[in-house]
This record gives sequence, C-alpha cells and structure tokens, in this order.
Amino acid sequence: MNIKLYGVRGSIPAPTTTKEYKKKIREILKFAIQNQLNNEEHIDDFLNQLPMHLTYLTGGNTTCVTVRTKEKFYILDAGTGIRVLGDEIFQNQNQFPKEIHIFITHTHWDHIQGLPFFKPLYLPQYTLHFYSGFPDIEERLYYQTDERFFPMPIYKTASKKYYHHFDIKKPLKLEDSIEIHSFPLKHPGGCFSYKFINLENNKIFIFATDVEFTGEDFLEKTEYLEYFGNADILILDSQYTLDESFLKIDWGHTSYTMAINCATHWKVKNLILTHHEPAYSDEKLFNNYINAIRHRQLLDKERPKIFLAKEGMELEL
Ligand SMILES: [Zn+2]
Ligand SMILES: [Zn+2]
Repeated sequence: MNIKLYGVRGSIPAPTTTKEYKKKIREILKFAIQNQLNNEEHIDDFLNQLPMHLTYLTGGNTTCVTVRTKEKFYILDAGTGIRVLGDEIFQNQNQFPKEIHIFITHTHWDHIQGLPFFKPLYLPQYTLHFYSGFPDIEERLYYQTDERFFPMPIYKTASKKYYHHFDIKKPLKLEDSIEIHSFPLKHPGGCFSYKFINLENNKIFIFATDVEFTGEDFLEKTEYLEYFGNADILILDSQYTLDESFLKIDWGHTSYTMAINCATHWKVKNLILTHHEPAYSDEKLFNNYINAIRHRQLLDKERPKIFLAKEGMELEL
C-alpha cells in the first residue's frame, strides 16, 4: 500500500507569502555565512543540515490523500490538494488507472473544494466512484457546483460518476486483499474516518481528520480502542497546540498533545500529524512537531513514531 499526501492544511488553503519566503531565505543565508559555504559542490550537504522549517514547506493545500494498492487507486477527500493530483494524473495518464475511488470524510469546504478543479472529472475515459457515510453525498457535491457558486455543475461533467453510501456497519471490499472500514467522528456536522486493512499482511492504515478527541473519549470509550488499536499508520487531526485547543472547545479539532495521548493509548505504531492550522507558519509547525516528540518522551513511550504531514510525503505499508 502506498500512501501519498497532496493536502495537509486544515480549514482553508494557506499559500506561502512573499514575506514568509524572504524570511526563510534570510535565515538560510545566515546559516550559509556561519557555515562559510563558498563552494557549489557543498550546497546539497549544506541544505541537508538546515533546520526542518527551512528544508521543507509543509504546504498550503487542504486535505487530499491517495492510497495505491495492488489493484486499486483510492483518494481520501477532495480538498485543494486534489487539483495538484488531477494535474499529475492528466500529465501521466498511463500511470494511473481510469477507475478512481474517492472517499469523502465530510463536506466542509476544505474537504471538497478542490473537486471542481480535478481534471479527470471532465474526461470521459474516467469513472469516479464517490463513497461517504452521508447518504446524500451526491446532492452535497452537486450543491457546491450549483450555478450560483461554479460555472459547471458536476452532473454535466464528462466522467462517469457513481455515488455510494458507505454503511459503517458493513466493511467494503473492492479488491481481495483490502478491507475498508469506516467510523463516525466527533465533529460539527459529523465526519467519518476510513480504515484500510491489508488482509495479506494484516497492516492497518487509518485516516482520521476533523475530529475532536478529549481525555475521556480515548480512556473510557472502548469502541475507539477497537477501531484505532494497533494501527500501523494513523493520519490524525492535530490542528492546534494544547493551549489553543482550550480556547476552541467544540470547534471539532484535536491538539497535537491529545493526538499523541490517543495514539499512545491505542498502541499506534506511526502517527502522522495533519490538518495544520492555516495561521501557523512552517516554523511554528516544526516547533510543534519537536514539542510533540518531547511530549511522547515525557509519557516515557518509544511509540508511536511521529511525523509531521507535508505535501508530497509518501508512506509505504
Ligand atoms: Zn477540515
Ligand atoms: Zn470539518
């Protein structure tokens, strides 16, 4: 199973500004002076030593993740990251299947707003299957392309489209080796997590964004332990710092501190922190990431291994 992140930002896209870009360049140049970089051959080594916030951009696109298995191609959510994915598919058509399975966690704008800009939607050779725990998913996706909001209604686009209600009581099996489960999450308006189990090697990947976990939830509710327990990779909402989460109770998101508490309790092996707050700079996000690792160390745990979600990041399972 190959998992690739195309959008990791929460709530609304957050493009890098010129001011942020210049700040990064200034810091990099300071490091270059300190390290007496004066030879082009040493540039790659120099870049590899920079702090993470100067080496990477976390990215400004909203949620979109792909899952490639032996037989199928899945997309989780259609935030603005799906535009980039659609362009990639369009330019490399022989590398992607013509049948695509798109799972929608919920229909807040940041999880669907890229869909009208997803090129395969407009190409007749593509078949798109949409799945959601919301039975009215077709109507919801149509609504955002109503002529008051977008020039081309989704039902007029050239691809073949099928809409499926994902009944959380019935796992889905679209290929022999993969079983897909869903689980409802606490979030305003509701949201669904998706879990992919590889039946050949028993590896588990879970995608759970837009969820507000509290201490009571993960300690007392055994259904969480059953669903999330022993996941090999868990991509989890961790939008806020702990302080900010106290100011935003019932906004539907989790702090990175709570995300680690949950993942530790559930014995998750690898935790990917995502749905980054749009107001946080790369510097703040990477600082949070360092503090997240410290928090796990304070819990005296070696697992989960923690990663900060970044656009373009790939994981193999
Ligand atoms: Zn969201
Ligand atoms: Zn949401």
